[in-house]
Amino acid sequence: MGNRVGAAAVKVGRDSTLRAIQPRHARRRSHAVDSRKQAPTVLTLGYQQRTIKEFIGLLVDASIDVLIDVRETAWSHKPGFSKSALQAKLGAVQIEYVHARFAGNPKRIRAKAPSHAECLTRYAAHLKKNRSILRDFGELVGKYLAGRKRVCITCYERHPDDCHRGILASQWRAGRRRSVIHLATDGCSRLVGTQSR
Ligand SMILES: [Zn+2]
Repeated sequence: MGNRVGAAAVKVGRDSTLRAIQPRHARRRSHAVDSRKQAPTVLTLGYQQRTIKEFIGLLVDASIDVLIDVRETAWSHKPGFSKSALQAKLGAVQIEYVHARFAGNPKRIRAKAPSHAECLTRYAAHLKKNRSILRDFGELVGKYLAGRKRVCITCYERHPDDCHRGILASQWRAGRRRSVIHLATDGCSRLVGTQSR
């Protein structure tokens, strides 16, 4: 299980002793300099069918400084993905955890929607109706981006088109010089749209 993270680290230096002596945050700094010229960027990552080790490894490889959890309820059956456990794991690799509960897909929508696709459609309508969500999300992200931090948002579904974070991220980007990068989307059956995988 730990091999996934180890394999990712090999990309940086084949010599495993290098990994042992070079703290991860030291590697991060060089990425931060590279990102300064780019449009303000938010990354996203889902944890569906991932272990906590793989998930953290992907965040570290992407040089993430802050993880914004956009689940309404930051709780999971999966070990490591409930709020306090996740926060502790992130803290160990110098990633800040923020729970943006206000940006979650409300339970009343999730419980009543007849399908996964409809659940997402209703979330989009919910964002449209409650403009303060996008405004508050923009302010939260903007605060970190102004401090040169790399921000990733997370929720369950691996593919952003299956997840409310895809809608949130695309509305954050809409009409502005901003970009969104969805990390590691492959490796799961899709929940919405073509079932071709
Ligand atoms: Zn979601």
